[in-house]
Formats: sequence, structure tokens, C-alpha cells
Amino acid sequence: MKNLLDYTLEELVLWMKENNESSFRAKQIISWIYKGIKDFKDMRNIPKSLISKLEESFEISFPEIEEVYKSNIDGTEKFLLKFSDGNLIESVLMRYKHGNSICISTQVGCRMGCKFCASTIDGRVRNLTAGEILSEILVVQDYIGERISNVVLMGSGEPLDNYDNVMKFLELVCAEYGLNIGQRHITLSTCGIVPKIYELADKNLNITLAISLHAFSDEKRKEIMPIANKYTIEEILEACRYFINKTNRRVTFEYALVRGVNDTKEDAKALGKLLKGLLCHVNLIPVNEIKESLFKRSSKESIQDFSNVLKKLGIEVTVRREMGSDINAACGQLRRSYINTQKIGGE
Ligand code: SAH
Repeated sequence: MKNLLDYTLEELVLWMKENNESSFRAKQIISWIYKGIKDFKDMRNIPKSLISKLEESFEISFPEIEEVYKSNIDGTEKFLLKFSDGNLIESVLMRYKHGNSICISTQVGCRMGCKFCASTIDGRVRNLTAGEILSEILVVQDYIGERISNVVLMGSGEPLDNYDNVMKFLELVCAEYGLNIGQRHITLSTCGIVPKIYELADKNLNITLAISLHAFSDEKRKEIMPIANKYTIEEILEACRYFINKTNRRVTFEYALVRGVNDTKEDAKALGKLLKGLLCHVNLIPVNEIKESLFKRSSKESIQDFSNVLKKLGIEVTVRREMGSDINAACGQLRRSYINTQKIGGE
């Protein structure tokens, strides 16, 4: 059965036409979804005959909240969500003064293979559909009873490796009839799938593009990110320039600092040189240590030094405030540790 959450208003209007129903019903039905109605029978203004037809063709499928973990440090909440096929994903809610922000997953697992990342260890299980990605926000919003105003696609999965579903998700999440979140409040993070960056740029969206760079040379990048074997940093930067020209939006470069791997002042200088003149922002992330990897986080001093070198070179830089470090908030950590404990429990 089709999940109604995967439908745009246009598609539902089309379905109405094909099924000899009035088009205006589509809008009524969709607005029930955003009021949190999960059963067609509760859609009070919809005639019974149409409800039966809908029930034959669609389901309204939300993930269940399997667990919620709340950080004692900063109130960040991590949601472990379970889809009807049993697959688990995680979404993280961060509360800021300027509003609630959610970090969502786009795939179950990931096949990009970054060495420091927990999401990728068992590869990609499957893509999430547009409606499933959207439902992460709906479920969390419903749970907290507050609006979510910012969305970052930085959870598990590579958004540009699930391009069509992610583009449809962007349409749904920004739609006036939907959550009506402004494009400026959305950030998409990618490890750098170059052809898809061009495609995204051509869509002329006002979203923020974030690139997981993590190294200043291809040689170093290859050590930690297999995607570097496919696309060079120069190719990524060229695609970023294209994105900036098209959208006039500042690109963010994420740089996870790993002790002894990419965190010296020389590394910082080289990075600064590389990015000079580009409309960009560097986000330094002290790497979250995962037990499957030997990577250790850089010391506070080297993070500060790294940041100072970039600033001196005229690069806009921030050090990511750590959120939820006590609740396994790094990509894919929670799902993994949860699956592992379930396995141990079952043995
Ligand atoms: N696949 C996309 C989005 C998901 S990862 C991407 O690569 O951008 C979101 C960000 O978290 C990326 O910058 C990723 O490199 C980073 N990340 C993953 N594991 C991490 C860890 N253990 N510590 C710090 N950052 C991590």
C-alpha cells in the first residue's frame, strides 16, 4: 500500500481526478495529516464513500518512537524511530533560543564508508522515502507539542545518494499546505557527490549546502573518506562555486578534527589557502569518538589553534557546540548501540 505521507498535494489532486472525486478533497485530506490525524475515519469532513476508497489504496504510516534519550547536559533529545518494516533510524532534536532544530536521517545506514562514522559500518540497508523523512519531523513535533523551525539533513545516510526522495521531501517540508518551513531554515549535508551538487544547484533552492570536507588534500581525504577516490576536492570546490553562483548562498564546510590526522596548524593553513575567496563558512567539529574506530578527538587547544589560524586567514569559522555528547548523539551511534544490545539480549 502507498503511504499517504509520500504524496504532494498535486499528486493527491491527480489521484482524486483519476478516481472520479473532487479535487478539493485532496487539500482537506492533506490538512488532516498535518493536524496529526492518523486514521482516515477521523477525517470528519470526508464522505464515507471516499474514506473507504482511501483505505483501500493508502495507509498513513508513521514510525513508532522506540526510545527517547534526553541529554542531561543540554536538553538535546535523541529519538530512536522504528518503521513498520522494523528498521530503526535516529533523529535528534536540539533546542536553541531561536527555535527547535531537528537533525534527520535520510537512509537506514549509509554506504559512503567514512572511517569515523558509525552510520556506515554495516552499509546501507535502504533509502527512506520522502514521506518517511518527513514523518521524522511530524512524529517529534507531535511528541514535544511544539513547532520545529529548522531542519538539518545530517543524520544517518547520504542525502545525495537518495536524491529523488530527498528532493521530494524538500518540496513537502517547505509546502505551504505542509510544514511550511522556509528553505533558508534547511541545511543539506553531503560528503560531496559532485554531479548531484550541480543538479541541486540547478534547482535554485535557498537551502544551505554543507560539505563534509574533513581534509585539505585528496591524499588525506582518501585516508578517511572513500568518496575521495571518486571526486577530488577541486571538483567539489568547482561544484560549490557553481552552487554559490546560482543561489548566492554561503556554503558550509564541515571539518571533523581528528587528533594527529588532520588537526595541526599546518593543516589549518592549508585549508585556509584552499578556501580563500570562496563565499563560505567552516564548521569545526571535534570528532565524536566511536568505539569501532581508533580516531580520537583533538585537544581543546588544537581546536582553538586551528580556528585561530583560519580566522587570521580571513575564513569565517565556528566550532560546533557539542550537543548531546552523553547520549550517543553522533550519526548512527545510537541505532548501532541499540541494535547491538538487542542482539546481546537475544543471544
Ligand atoms: N552523509 C552526509 C550527512 C550525514 S553525516 C555527509 O557526509 O555530510 C553529518 C556530518 O557528521 C558529516 O559532516 C559527517 O562527516 C559528520 N560525522 C559523522 N560521524 C561523526 C563523528 N563520529 N564525529 C564527528 N562528526 C561526524
